[in-house]
Amino acid sequence: MLQRVLIIDDSPQIHRLVEAWLKSDVIDLATAPTAAAGHSMAVTWQPDLILLDVDLPDQSGFDLCRHLKSDEACCKIPIVFLTGASSPEDRVAGLNLGAVDYVVKPFHPAEFQARVRAALRTKYLLDLLQQRAQIDGLTGLRNRSFLDERLATELTMIRRHARPLSCIMIDVDHFKAVNDLYGHATGDEVLRGVADVLIQTTRLEDIVARYGGEEFTVLTPGTDAAGAAILAERIRDGIEKLSVSRGATVLKVTCSLGVATYDPVHSSTLIHHADTALYAAKANGRNRVEVFSPSMLHQPEFQAA
Ligand code: GH3
Ligand code: MG
Ligand code: MG
Repeated sequence: MLQRVLIIDDSPQIHRLVEAWLKSDVIDLATAPTAAAGHSMAVTWQPDLILLDVDLPDQSGFDLCRHLKSDEACCKIPIVFLTGASSPEDRVAGLNLGAVDYVVKPFHPAEFQARVRAALRTKYLLDLLQQRAQIDGLTGLRNRSFLDERLATELTMIRRHARPLSCIMIDVDHFKAVNDLYGHATGDEVLRGVADVLIQTTRLEDIVARYGGEEFTVLTPGTDAAGAAILAERIRDGIEKLSVSRGATVLKVTCSLGVATYDPVHSSTLIHHADTALYAAKANGRNRVEVFSPSMLHQPEFQAA
């Protein structure tokens, strides 16, 4: 796996040294000569590790470290300080600012490589842990925590690049009866079957998540309400054709779906609008798709209990 290392240091000599020591098939290197250039590269390039010189021309490395750690777009990137002869107090100050390690110049090549590798290894494991924490154990789909994070990112993206964003909420019909009649193991199998249909009917750029229980969410960046309604209908059809059998009985599985599209006036309510449309689909007979319209908000039977 390729990992990215950003060197923020004004000395071309240090750039050359670090490049010579770290150059490999698994490390992608970039350099920035100033604090300003380094900060902007950290945000746009999203390195896995920043090697940060304490003495920079436009700002001290300590100040830049403080700024990087308070910027949500790059605060999780580990920082290793590159310092000249420094006092223990300086090194403690750097670590207290959130750096994971420091290397003292002149560098000892093997020690430098070992410290960089250790920092990259920790970053890799933390990334893995975070990915696992955002996967639903039963279906293998992303979970609610991932969905909330991606929705926030998508909402900032569409404010920058005017493009539509739609949301489909999917709820299995009368699912409690499946558990009651056939047991939880069969209920779980139905949920996995629904998840498979969602993966097969959506595009790679769509975000498919288990919202909770027997509810699922699909976010579709770049798709307007009409497109999302077509996708929702394909999902409905796919789930209706699911074949889960118990002995001689083939279970009939259906879902109700609500579709909403991002509306700049009510940006925080995309999920709520899709949910309202889902309630409308339930109230209007289940196994159907409803597209949100503002009039639904005034119908008491379409509101959450
Ligand atoms: P409706 O058509 O109105 O949606 O009815 P419903 O029965 O699907 O809705 P209700 O909210 O009454 O029941 C949802 C059920 O989903 C109850 C809960 O026990 C079950 N459930 C939630 N999570 C899981 C799970 O992980 N596995 C299984 N087997 N059942 C689950
Ligand atoms: Mg439900
Ligand atoms: Mg249900």
